[in-house]
Amino acid sequence: MISFVKIDIGEAEKKAVMEVLDSGMLAQGSRTAAFESAFANYCGAQYAIATTSGTSALHTALYAMGIRAGDEVITTPFTFVATANAAVMQGARPVFADILPDTFNIDPDDIARKITPKTKAIIPVNLFGQPYDVEAINSLAAQYGLLVLEDAAQSVGAMYRDKKSGTFGNCAAFSFYATKNIITGEGGMITTDSPEMAELCKRFRHHGQSEQTRYQYYELGYNYRMTDLQAAIGLVQLSKADTINARRAANAQVLTQGLKHIEGLEVPKVVEGCSHVFHQYTIKVNADKRDLILNRIKENGVACGVYYPKSLHLHPHFLAYGYKEGDFPVSEQCSGQVIALPVHPQLTDDELKTIVEVVSEAVTFYQS
Ligand SMILES: *Cc1c(COP(=O)(O)O)cnc(C)c1O
Repeated sequence: MISFVKIDIGEAEKKAVMEVLDSGMLAQGSRTAAFESAFANYCGAQYAIATTSGTSALHTALYAMGIRAGDEVITTPFTFVATANAAVMQGARPVFADILPDTFNIDPDDIARKITPKTKAIIPVNLFGQPYDVEAINSLAAQYGLLVLEDAAQSVGAMYRDKKSGTFGNCAAFSFYATKNIITGEGGMITTDSPEMAELCKRFRHHGQSEQTRYQYYELGYNYRMTDLQAAIGLVQLSKADTINARRAANAQVLTQGLKHIEGLEVPKVVEGCSHVFHQYTIKVNADKRDLILNRIKENGVACGVYYPKSLHLHPHFLAYGYKEGDFPVSEQCSGQVIALPVHPQLTDDELKTIVEVVSEAVTFYQS
């Protein structure tokens, strides 16, 4: 079986963890500070604040951006649930806007239609590792006085023109969950250029106390601190990010070359002026045959997955806001068509060849 995910943890990560264990200081400390500083530098952002996960990074960033109960936050229904949950966690209403069928990213025109006097922020996602339409969304934000939280959980190192992921909006949230492009097991990071937001992020992840004056609680906060064990892994992983991303992009190119002429199969589109870091390599096939094709690919030895099988607005806790089937037709259609293929950095040339053969055969088999 060709695996879907294969992590890249080497001797350097093991050594870094042992050094932290031997130091006797395991919680947020010098390794976390070093990871934050290296991460900010990597993205070209002024500040980076480490957290326990991508989810807590999103939650913390929304707090720092001043999102509170009653506010509306516009986001995509075609993403991992944490993107929209973060708005709910701050008491805000998640307002969905549909996606574009070729990039799976949020459609700026539909965002414009969803803006109301209560709208405070937009959370666009760089889905599967490809930047969203930064220019269009930032111009909407400027026009309507909205803040932008970039969900960068899948896009470390991706570029939109000369900007790196982490600098597209007011704040960005990254994830280092065990299957992301760079990993710490669980872990997250916020980047921002705002000193005020950076300070609020630090307070929120630390029970609402400032790091200078402990036991003085300004407001409700959480324990969202990263440990130095994770940060030590993250520092090594960050040094490999460009190599990992280059490998993923090269693998994606091989898959696209092999699959682009197959009838009934759409390969991923890479938008001009963007670099796509291929957290996922997602094809589209005929929705009526998708599950049959998926099973045949697996039976023939290639692991694959569906991201995402159901649009967020159709899950119970979002249906409760009054959403219904048909509200986001593009998102609903894509959720029936997508198949994600292995694209991880450790695939061999032979494995890539097998993936192309197996997928071509399965799609062609159900075409006739
Ligand atoms: C993984 C992911 C998250 C959540 O990150 P965790 O570290 O798992 O909490 C949020 N948004 C998107 C788009 C993700 O892929």
